[in-house]
Amino acid sequence: MPTPLLETRALSAFYSDFQALFGIDFEISESETIAIIGSNGAGKSTFLKALAGQVSSKGQTLRVGGVNRGGWRAYEAVQAGVALVPEGRRLFASLSVEENLKAGAYCRRSGHWTLERIYELFPDLVSKRHNPGTALSGGQQQMVAIGRALMSNPALLLCDELSLGLAPKVIRDIYRAVPRIREHGTAVVVVEQDISQALAISDRVYCIQEGRVSLTGRPANLSRKQISEAYFGVR
Ligand code: ATP
Repeated sequence: MPTPLLETRALSAFYSDFQALFGIDFEISESETIAIIGSNGAGKSTFLKALAGQVSSKGQTLRVGGVNRGGWRAYEAVQAGVALVPEGRRLFASLSVEENLKAGAYCRRSGHWTLERIYELFPDLVSKRHNPGTALSGGQQQMVAIGRALMSNPALLLCDELSLGLAPKVIRDIYRAVPRIREHGTAVVVVEQDISQALAISDRVYCIQEGRVSLTGRPANLSRKQISEAYFGVR
C-alpha cells in the first residue's frame, strides 16, 4: 500500500468547549479525489478547517506523507502543501483578480501552477484580470478562489461547497477543472451538498453525521439506501 498523502486517526475538533468532530479516521492518497457529504451542521466545513489548521483539534494523529505531526497551525498546513478554498470564496475586495491570485503565492511550493496556467484552466478570467475580484459573477469568483489556492502549488486542495449559489451550467464548468487539477498530482477533497455531484466526481466518499463518519466507500459500491441512512440518520 502506498503511504497516504495525509491521514487522520481519531481526529476531534472543538469550538471552545463545543465538540464538533468525534474521532474521525480519514486518509487520502496522491491524485485521489474524495467527496465529503452530510447534512447542514454535520461537521463537513469543520473537518476541512481542521485539515487546514484553522480550528483547534485534539487527540488526533495527523500524518502527512507518513510523518506524524504534533501541532498543526494554518501556516504549517500551507507549508506542508494543504490549501483551502473556503466556503463563500472570501476574495479580497480591494484587490483585482490578478492580485487575488498572486496573494495565493505568498507561501509557494515548486510545481505546475503559475498565473498563466490558472488562466488556461479558467479562460473566463483572462479578460477580467484587472477587475476587482468582487465585480465578477459568482462562478468567476469561485474560479478565482480555486486559482488563488492553486497558486501555492498544493499537494492537497480542500474545496468547501464549490457549487453554493451557482447555476447548474456554472457548476459543471467549475467541476470540469477537478480532473485537470488531479492530472498534476494534486489530491482534492470536495465538500458537497449535492450527492449526485459528489458521487460523480469522487474516487471515494465520506459521509459525516453529527461529527462522526457514518459511511465511507467507493461510489460504485454504495447503494442509495446506505447513503440516505448515513446522510439523514434514518433507517
Ligand atoms: P453546512 O453545510 O451548514 O456548512 P457543515 O456540515 O459544514 O454544515 P459545520 O459548519 O462544520 O457543519 O458545523 C458543525 C457544527 O459546529 C455545527 O453544530 C455548527 O453549529 C458548529 N459550528 C460551526 N462553526 C462554529 C463556530 N465558529 N463556533 C461555534 N460553533 C460552530
